[in-house]
Amino acid sequence: METQFEVVIGLEIHIQLQTKSKAFSSDSIEYGALPNTQVSPISLGHPGTLPMHNRAAIDNAIKMGLALNCDIREVNRYSRKNYFYADLPKGYQITQFDTPLCDNGAVQIKLGDGTIKEIRLTRIHMEEDTGKSMHDQDLYDTLVDYNRAGTALIEVVTEPDVKSGEEAYAFVTEIRRLVRYLDICDGNMEEGSLRCDANISIMPKGSKVFGTKVEVKNMNSISNVKRAIDFEIARQTEVLTGGGIIQGETRGFNGLNGSTFSLRKKEAINDYRYFPEPDLPPTIVTKEYIAQVKSGMPELPATLFNRFTNEYGLSDYDASVLVDDKHSALYFEKVVGISPKYKQACNWISGPIRGYLNENALSMDEFTLTPGQIAEIIELIESNKISHTAATQQLFPALTKQTDASPMSLVESLGLANITDTSFIDEIVQKVLSEFPEKVAEYKAGKVGLMGLFVGEVMKRSQGKADPKTANSLVKQALENI
Ligand code: ADP
Ligand code: MG
Repeated sequence: METQFEVVIGLEIHIQLQTKSKAFSSDSIEYGALPNTQVSPISLGHPGTLPMHNRAAIDNAIKMGLALNCDIREVNRYSRKNYFYADLPKGYQITQFDTPLCDNGAVQIKLGDGTIKEIRLTRIHMEEDTGKSMHDQDLYDTLVDYNRAGTALIEVVTEPDVKSGEEAYAFVTEIRRLVRYLDICDGNMEEGSLRCDANISIMPKGSKVFGTKVEVKNMNSISNVKRAIDFEIARQTEVLTGGGIIQGETRGFNGLNGSTFSLRKKEAINDYRYFPEPDLPPTIVTKEYIAQVKSGMPELPATLFNRFTNEYGLSDYDASVLVDDKHSALYFEKVVGISPKYKQACNWISGPIRGYLNENALSMDEFTLTPGQIAEIIELIESNKISHTAATQQLFPALTKQTDASPMSLVESLGLANITDTSFIDEIVQKVLSEFPEKVAEYKAGKVGLMGLFVGEVMKRSQGKADPKTANSLVKQALENI
């Protein structure tokens, strides 16, 4: 839709860090525990309690900063953001105000037409999560579960570089992929371990002054982030086109009808009262410390992509399909570590394996065949012991039902081996040629393309088991002798 407006979007992503305990206490953060069972006096901020730093949380935050090419701050101070809300038992949230752990940095996103765009980051800071208010569990009251209160979070804030729902979709997808590679968060938006707020405004094309922004929250999937933004752009366009003005406000998203709705109007300026957290010493992140964290980081998708294309000779397409999912990339690495048939291993993962997983609603980390078994199948095909068709259509499905069997033993017990016995194949060849005398004559007259027909017929009659190379040479020989 062509409009006279330009879209401006900045995203704020909250990422729950996968630590054993909370950001400033030893309370467990295990998901799904009974409400209010993981809450110590520290999480409640009772008098006399002292928060303590969680090293794993800091390490995870640094990893994210490094992955996004941020500048990592050396002296990190903490602040209390004071506000009253039922899910905030202490009455304040410990966060970083003027000394975020990371500045700058950027995320590369790939758009639908293949172009790469860079979304600049403003900051990444560490903070703690709030508890959870539940409005739908009781008929009359809102219930509060404080288990989540104090869980370590990082918040990634972008510059207003995002221009559409599609770009936001690509951005959140990339963030989710990175946290999964880094193993710092499960990236699950449905359960809220990854949350995205979108700040959206529009302004007349060519304007230098941003319009009033609306913040949309509560989108529990990446596609809902896109839907909410698309809706909001259309809504704001309609308001402005009709001569109205945009209210600065926070809106929620209704996934059932794809619309946003007002939650609360924003007063002129946020009146959070930040003040320095007196109970926590600053976290000092030295160059040496950063180097140590860096040495424990896994290879990231961009590095894997380069290796898969440059060293293994995979196409850009193949490599990007593999690195899209961490578990597929790691599985691929293991298969080619055993049998370096790169293209074949890739085809198995994006073909039969993915098909099987989709049919059974499984993800790659739930796949039960070992890389060794897949490597063995590839070798059986390469060495002509079994045809590709028999491998994909019979051996592989059988193996998924008998995961502890070796591929070779199944080839034997199911009788899938290629037949290389020349006298057996030759018998079929003679039969085929005698049944197609006109075709043989045409072949003799120069129509050499008929070769495929003869070989195909032989393969069919051997139920796909004749070794194709042997069949080919026997047909050729027989034709010469006629
Ligand atoms: P606030 O003080 O309301 O939290 P910030 O300046 O901290 O706002 O920005 C929060 C997010 O909103 C950032 O991602 C920023 O890029 C984005 N943002 C700021 N102004 C606008 C605007 N006019 N339109 C869209 N996004 C904006
Ligand atoms: Mg802000």
